[in-house]
Amino acid sequence: MDEQAFPAAFGFLASARLGEGRIPGAAFATRGTCTRRRERLRTQTLTASLVHAPDLTPEPALAREADTAVLIAGEIYNRDELRTVLPTEAGAAASAGQGDAELVLALFHRYGHHAFRLVNGRFAAVVAEGRRVLLATDHAGSVPLYLRPGRGEVVAATEVKTLARYASPQGPPIAGARRVRRMPGLYQVPAGAVMVMDLKTGTTETHPTWAPPLSRRIVGESEAVEAVRTALDASVRARLAPGTTPLVVLSGGIDSSGVAALARHAAGSLETVSMGTDTRNEFPQARLVADHLGSEHGEFTLRTPDLLTQLPHTVWASESHDPDIIEYLLPLTALYRALDGPGRRILTGYGADIPLAGMHREDRLPDLDSAVAHDMATFDGLNEMSPVLSAVCGHWSTHPYWDRDVLDLLVCLEAGLKRRYGRDKWVLRAAMEGLLPEETVNRPKLGVHEGSGTTSSFSLLLADHGIPDESIHSAKRLVVEELFDRTVVEGDHPDHVSTGSVVESVAARLKRGAA
Ligand code: AMP
Ligand code: MG
Repeated sequence: MDEQAFPAAFGFLASARLGEGRIPGAAFATRGTCTRRRERLRTQTLTASLVHAPDLTPEPALAREADTAVLIAGEIYNRDELRTVLPTEAGAAASAGQGDAELVLALFHRYGHHAFRLVNGRFAAVVAEGRRVLLATDHAGSVPLYLRPGRGEVVAATEVKTLARYASPQGPPIAGARRVRRMPGLYQVPAGAVMVMDLKTGTTETHPTWAPPLSRRIVGESEAVEAVRTALDASVRARLAPGTTPLVVLSGGIDSSGVAALARHAAGSLETVSMGTDTRNEFPQARLVADHLGSEHGEFTLRTPDLLTQLPHTVWASESHDPDIIEYLLPLTALYRALDGPGRRILTGYGADIPLAGMHREDRLPDLDSAVAHDMATFDGLNEMSPVLSAVCGHWSTHPYWDRDVLDLLVCLEAGLKRRYGRDKWVLRAAMEGLLPEETVNRPKLGVHEGSGTTSSFSLLLADHGIPDESIHSAKRLVVEELFDRTVVEGDHPDHVSTGSVVESVAARLKRGAA
């Protein structure tokens, strides 16, 4: 297996404990090999169970020097830039193939907890030093990180289901962190934050390391177009594994087609794959792009009932209980699961609509910017970029539009660049002109939940169970919450949870409520 294709660790369960440490086994949804590691520091012990690609060593995910230990799941995209601010020996050590944990360790020595303000990546990290424990997320919180705080021991994990045994109503509340549904005492580390805990006192401070831009920049058309193309190109390049053919999940919309085009140019070769159902697909549009780029292209067609049976898997993997998010993620779960064979590094076009207000189908700029501001203020905790979604089949997914630099740029462009000449996402479309067929550049937005017929199939399933139109959305919420309780809180394997029976019980509950 190619080391470059994967981060050293996909996820972890870790305990930082005063004195000796120990940790029970963990049942991750992430597929891979689990390796345990223990670092005894002067006052605390950091114990971890790391889940990683089979046949690869997780060593680069761990680093230790004197009284400091670092653990990281995921990857960093601005490594070269980061090394330039390190003293020569530390920079050299960090670049000698020693991995991202070594790099974070060197940055931590130089900047303390502010080190995380510098990092552009897709990661969750733990730093243990003295009697302190730091828990850090990337700017987007794209690798979810959960914890059970406490005096004497802090337990943290990238999948909250692995912390179920630690849930208990006791324990101090902590400000600035989100509680987890039906798991009292457990919290989610905010996106773009580092939580610093004192093991002796049990106190916690939360420091933001990133915030979405609130201001907007007025930039000329050509300058904006050029900036978007340059930033997205750098983001795609940072996500490629040298010497391998990139794989892009392709709908044929502008977002994923743009990523595919840039990946093709950077790598010299390309694989693409598209998913559809018996109700709907976007195959012709994706095929057009695949032919244009000369990619090795594959298509999967799923039966709609088979798609809906994967709802429990989607909730189990994402640990999200937002019904709208689950509808976006369901077709992707199905697609990742259909890609059997060895694990792959996968690039997607996910998330471009958020900073560009792509789902907003009208012309009024104030509404457009309201949508951007609202979505950027509310994405945290939804877990829509969770790597576990693809990692359930051993794949590592990454989302170039939510690269920190790309996101900063897209959010802060004034709304008139996002909607222009009657076109949505104008600045992105203009940036991709010349790389893609004209038809693709101009193609109107179609969400993955629409293009695959997911939304309508899920609604139909509920309607078939006698749920009236006006209750469909609230019924979806109840179904998704029930699936969360079963697969995340109670630990049932999703193969043993049936969508049909959960829908039946929700329908019965609603009928009783109405009666
Ligand atoms: P969308 O909601 O259309 O923006 O979808 C988000 C991302 O999911 C796209 O940019 C693609 O990378 C991927 N995707 C969406 N629909 C499909 C599909 N039918 N087949 C393969 N990938 C898809
Ligand atoms: Mg689409």
